[in-house]
Amino acid sequence: MRAIHWFRRDLRLSDNAALSAALEANDEVLAVYVLDPRLTHAKNQSPARLAFLYAALANLDAALQSHGAGLIIRQGEPLAELTKLLTDCKAQGLYFNRDYTPYARKRDDAVGGELRTAGYTVESVKDLVLFEQTELLTGTASPYTVYTPYKRRWLERLQADPPLASTPDFSRLRVKDRAEIKSLPLPQPPPEFENAWWQPANEAAAQQRLKNWLGHLQNQPQPPGIGTYAKNRNLPGLDATSHLSPFLRFGLLSPRQCYRGATNARERAPGGTAMEGCETWLGEIIWRDFYYQILWNFPHVAVGPFQKKFARLEWSTDKAHFAAWCDGRTGYPIVDAGMRQLNTQHWMHNRVRMIVASFLTKDLLINWQSGERYFWQMLVDGDQASNNGGWQWAASTGTDAQPYFRIFNPVSQGQKFDPDGTYIRKYVPELAQVPPKYLYAPWTMPLALQQHVGCIIGQDYPAPIVDHASQRTKALALYKV
Ligand code: FAD
Repeated sequence: MRAIHWFRRDLRLSDNAALSAALEANDEVLAVYVLDPRLTHAKNQSPARLAFLYAALANLDAALQSHGAGLIIRQGEPLAELTKLLTDCKAQGLYFNRDYTPYARKRDDAVGGELRTAGYTVESVKDLVLFEQTELLTGTASPYTVYTPYKRRWLERLQADPPLASTPDFSRLRVKDRAEIKSLPLPQPPPEFENAWWQPANEAAAQQRLKNWLGHLQNQPQPPGIGTYAKNRNLPGLDATSHLSPFLRFGLLSPRQCYRGATNARERAPGGTAMEGCETWLGEIIWRDFYYQILWNFPHVAVGPFQKKFARLEWSTDKAHFAAWCDGRTGYPIVDAGMRQLNTQHWMHNRVRMIVASFLTKDLLINWQSGERYFWQMLVDGDQASNNGGWQWAASTGTDAQPYFRIFNPVSQGQKFDPDGTYIRKYVPELAQVPPKYLYAPWTMPLALQQHVGCIIGQDYPAPIVDHASQRTKALALYKV
């Protein structure tokens, strides 16, 4: 039997559930990636994410070639392309890993339905998460909407039934006759991302990053590792998180590899701090699953608030405020540092994602969906489930969200989470010489000091575009629906 493995967000060979299933059940397996213009040419597509994808595809092709195979590239509407390819290469089956976004569900239902009717075997497999869809339900058989009990259940289930690594026989991978099967050339990644921090975007490098992260169990800030994660993960100046998000986003790593790695690291942990680091980090992998099951069970979150009463909120449409937020020119240093990190690194520290999201919704009173869209356009790790979950959490419209009356103060958040100002000074160099006393609210600096440090407020660095205290009052009124 000959089958096709359809790569999507699982751009790796190791521990790939559908690829392993295809290799196990068939004599020959061909690998394809379909460039779907609905995604590659989408209006809000992020150039950074496309660059990552294209680099990862080239690397996947190289990895497949080392097994005597290669990646077939097709472009077009997936159902039409897969139908043609199945005919061209006389395959009988199609395998892929499931995805949970509304678009992916529709696409995969159409592919599965049509091809099964045409007599093909179609196997879709769970791989992107550890628990999916309605696998974990509450005592009343409803999907979880609160994280803590979900996490408890998730851990109970996994401890009882830990995931096994799959060991496929790669000798069954084939590109029988490339000329006959026809593959488009690999898409070229744009050169401006050649030296981006996530390079090289390949499976071996992703596995090495995970190994390094899990190997640092000592209680020292450098190099950052899982051992100090619980202690330092909220301090963007220390940069003490794994940076694995784009690799997980495109499946150069599996969440099972992260789970197994974190539980093994916990067993090796030399003390309480490191053990806590491992547990806390695993908790983030669980958040990721949590938001996928939210998106699956409540697909309306993709287009509106989870809590429907908040659909009535009358948001501000101030374009100048939104532009200042996007550009990192709000006059609030921690917010501006975060947005500038996003604009230059295409990634932002989680604590700062929360701060800037709170600022957009509760200080500028702008709809969280505008922020969600901007993140989507910029992030290399943009993931619909987590991005939506994060935004709805910060905007207080989501499941298990921050209560609306808890409004981050952008000055004290900076003082608390960037206490020595490393992060702010790195991304907002105009403030480099500003003394710590004024760094978080530079507009309070006396004029003589502004002149002395070469940072005139309103000229070298913006005055705050809104007053936090008065906007807070407005936000409280806005949310009372
Ligand atoms: P680590 O802290 O090392 O965590 C390890 C992994 O766990 C991450 O790579 C990620 O896959 C997962 N994870 C961590 N935190 C969360 C979380 N809160 N929710 C879901 N998964 C999590 N994450 C994305 O992957 N894509 C997004 O588009 C995205 N958008 C966000 C938007 C907002 C407004 C907020 C508040 C959070 C968002 N997050 C998103 C979650 C989180 O900020 C990132 O996953 C994290 O910063 C990635 O850095 P890291 O790999 O160093 O994470």
